[in-house]
Amino acid sequence: MKNDGHDGKGTYIIILYLDESKRIQIGKLGRFKFKKGYYAYVGSAFGPGGLKSRIKHHIEAKKKYHWHIDYLNPAVKEVWISDHGERLEHEWAGSLGEIASDKIPGFGCSDCSCESHLFYFKSFGFLQDFQKELCKKKHVIIVDSQLKSESKQLPRMFKLTNK
Ligand SMILES: [Zn+2]
Repeated sequence: MKNDGHDGKGTYIIILYLDESKRIQIGKLGRFKFKKGYYAYVGSAFGPGGLKSRIKHHIEAKKKYHWHIDYLNPAVKEVWISDHGERLEHEWAGSLGEIASDKIPGFGCSDCSCESHLFYFKSFGFLQDFQKELCKKKHVIIVDSQLKSESKQLPRMFKLTNK
């Protein structure tokens, strides 16, 4: 395990969990019924600040919502990042779409041709398999966000490859 690797640029998946079904307004996109279960959101950070500042944004509690995913901020449980130099978000969104139980149409993909960047999973099993595949292929790091309410520091990082 290493405690670095998140300063670069790359692609990430945010894992969210809702412990009950609820209706949530996602800005102008509309109001959706979110079922109880797991959600995976795909994004990328290739701009200034890279993954570090982006992940910090996703993990911190917020008063203002900028992106669709900000509306689900309280449900963020875990972040998986890849500092692979290629943009993998649309490829990952495609793969997740094939194994997901459902998806939220138009979510997080106003700038691309994907159907969605947010996927619903009734159980964690398929996501776990997907994570294993990613770890085999790319340098995926799991960010444990259990500490997110405690401080403004970035949470612990777990590097799962290159051990
Ligand atoms: Zn896309």
